[in-house]
Amino acid sequence: MSDPHSDVQLVSDEGMRLDGRALDELRPIRIEAGVLERADGSCYLEWGSNKVLVGVYGPREVHPKHMQNPLKGIVQARYNMAAFSVSERKRPGPDRRAVEISKITSEALECVVLTDQFPRTTVDVYIEVLEASAGTRCAGLTAASVALADAGIPMKDLVVALASGKINGKLALDLGKAEDNFGEADVPFAIVPRTGEVVLLQMDGHLTKEEFETILEMNVRAAAQVYELQKQALVKRYSAYAEPAPGEEQAAQPVQAVVASGSPERFHEPKIAAPPPTDVVVDEILEAVEATTPAAPGEEPDVNADEDEAEGGDI
Ligand code: UDP
Repeated sequence: MSDPHSDVQLVSDEGMRLDGRALDELRPIRIEAGVLERADGSCYLEWGSNKVLVGVYGPREVHPKHMQNPLKGIVQARYNMAAFSVSERKRPGPDRRAVEISKITSEALECVVLTDQFPRTTVDVYIEVLEASAGTRCAGLTAASVALADAGIPMKDLVVALASGKINGKLALDLGKAEDNFGEADVPFAIVPRTGEVVLLQMDGHLTKEEFETILEMNVRAAAQVYELQKQALVKRYSAYAEPAPGEEQAAQPVQAVVASGSPERFHEPKIAAPPPTDVVVDEILEAVEATTPAAPGEEPDVNADEDEAEGGDI
C-alpha cells in the first residue's frame, strides 16, 4: 500500500489481474505436512510465489523460567524472512515488522491450541519465509497451524489466513505482490473455520464499511477452500501410518505426502462441511470492530490510527 493513489494498472478492462486471475480467485496453493525429520511437526507451503517452511517444537520447557505459566502452556511463534526471500536483499535478523508478525501469529495460534493441557511448557513455532510475494504473514499462519497439527498438539481446529483488498477501485481476493504494493487497501484476516472465530484482522488503507464487509465475506468464503487443502495435507500425512488390513502387506508409502491443490485454474467449491453462514460471521466481526473503535463525538472512527507505526502500516 505504498501509494494509495497509484495509477499503476492492476486490473484490465476485462477484469483480469496481472497474473491472469479473476478478482475472486485465489493463487495456487500447495501444502505438505511432515517435511522435517527433526522437528516435532512441520509444514511446507507454497502460495502463489510465496514459499514458507514451518517447524514446530514442543511442548517443552520454557526458558527463561519466569515465562512459565503454571496454569497453561504458551505458544511462541517466530516469523523470519530469509535474506534471499525478496529481490532486494533483506537485512538478516528480526526487524519491527517481524516482531509484529510473530506477535500476531502467536496470539492467533493461542486461540486454537488447548494450552491448558500442557501447563508450564512452550510450543515453539518457527516460520521461515524462503520466498516472499505478499501475504506471507497469512501463508505463515496457515502453514503453522498445519505444522502444529502434524506435531500432535491438541487444538480445537486449524487456522486459515488470507489477505484481500482493493486494487484500482475494485475488491480483489488474495492480493499478489504488485497489488499489495500499489493497491488501495489490504485486509489480512484469519479464521477458525469450525467455530467462525476471527483470530487475526488487520487493515492497511481505506475502505468503506460496505467494501470492508464484502472483503470479509470474500475472505470467509475463500478460507473454506484453503481449509480443505490443509485437511487433505494432514490426511495424506497420517495415512502413511495407517495399519495394514489383516493378511495385507503394508503398502509402500510415499516418503512425503504432497497435496497439490493448485492448478492455475480456479479452485472448485470444496466438499466439506459448510462453515457458519458468511453473513453471520461478517455481522459478528462488524459488531466487534464497532465495539472496539469508539468514535470521538462528531468524528468518524479512524481504523488506521497506528498506520505509521508498523512498516506497511498494518494496525
Ligand atoms: N517485503 C519486502 N521486504 C521486506 C518486507 C516485505 O520486499 O523487508 C515484501 C514481501 O514480498 C512481502 C510484501 O512486501 O510479502 C508485503 O509485505 P507486508 O508487510 O504487507 O506483509 P505480508 O503481505 O507479506 O504479510
